[in-house]
Amino acid sequence: MKCFYHQTLDAIGTCKCCAKGLCANCAADIDDWGLACREKHEAAVRKLNSLIQRNIKAQTLAGPSRRWTTLFYFLLGGIFMSVAIAPYRHHDIGFASFFVGTGIVFIGYGVVIRHLSGKLLTSKEGIGK
Ligand SMILES: [Zn+2]
Ligand SMILES: [Zn+2]
Repeated sequence: MKCFYHQTLDAIGTCKCCAKGLCANCAADIDDWGLACREKHEAAVRKLNSLIQRNIKAQTLAGPSRRWTTLFYFLLGGIFMSVAIAPYRHHDIGFASFFVGTGIVFIGYGVVIRHLSGKLLTSKEGIGK
């Protein structure tokens, strides 16, 4: 690829803002986070970088709370399952199966949340690269 502004020079990279090829003379390295057209898209790329960095920070903050939500549903499911033991001992199968069923629903919900949040995280990371 050649530099967009100097067709005879080889590009060393592309502008993060307009994706044009840039030679060493035209490329401005923005905070080690990507290249920009010198004096043209420097401010735009700097803004873009701070936006991405803020997103990453928000993601790492959201991580633990999501884990706790999953754990909460697992715990709730476990409580319902253990409550079912008493009516089961008294041969009240209908009552026991209600608690077991509810417990399974909660645990299933926890598994779904865990699965979905994992998928979202990996797809977001893919965009970052
Ligand atoms: Zn150039
Ligand atoms: Zn540019």
